[in-house]
Amino acid sequence: MTSISGYRIITSPCCGTKFVAPRYASMNYSAREHWTDGQRVSSLAPTDGGLRRCECGAYFLMQNSVEIFGISEEEKQATEPAFQVIDEKLSNLLAQPLNEDIEIVVRRRYWRYLNDPYRELYRAHRKSVEDAVDEANKGATTFWRTLGGSLPGNKPPRPAAVVPPSKIFTIPPHTPTATQQENMQVLLSLLLNSEKPDPLEIAELHRELGDYGEAQKSIEKFKESEHTASRLIRKLISEKVNEPMRYRM
Ligand SMILES: [Zn+2]
Repeated sequence: MTSISGYRIITSPCCGTKFVAPRYASMNYSAREHWTDGQRVSSLAPTDGGLRRCECGAYFLMQNSVEIFGISEEEKQATEPAFQVIDEKLSNLLAQPLNEDIEIVVRRRYWRYLNDPYRELYRAHRKSVEDAVDEANKGATTFWRTLGGSLPGNKPPRPAAVVPPSKIFTIPPHTPTATQQENMQVLLSLLLNSEKPDPLEIAELHRELGDYGEAQKSIEKFKESEHTASRLIRKLISEKVNEPMRYRM
């Protein structure tokens, strides 16, 4: 479970304004949906990358703030949290100069945000396929009940699933727009120049851009123990599939 054990006071790195922030005792990363681009839908843990706007108008990351101690409970209660940044404002942020670490967080969130319309198509498509399979299976059962099943002494054959859902896994095609492509390319170059680039994230960006050779090179650098997302991304690269994909943990 994600639980909060109280509140702490931090100061922004831009001008030292004090803000109140939760102190997490534990973090639960489970979510209703996980996606290969790192999006977690209805996640119990925050997904905003710690991006905040200060009172002075500058943007900062929570991980770059400084905690200050010895603050009374009264003062904590009187202190406001820093402003969160909604997804719709991300493109405005990109129109201004940002520190590289902030720009990475903004562009990563923008990447996922721009994939959201595709998620809608994907969900609708998967639901229509699953509903059709359910409907077909229901029909098969009813058919045997009314015909074969009603004949005395006749054991109806067990109705088999008409079309097993696993056999017809399809998703809608995805062609990233020019804005999506440009954002992914800039994010890639920022990540490649960053201190500790994640080969899995870089592989996923190359994959969504359709650069399967580069994606393969990057996934080969992934040396941590395999998990659901890494196995899936590896498989999608080998199949030359560029769509963001939903998966279960
Ligand atoms: Zn400030």
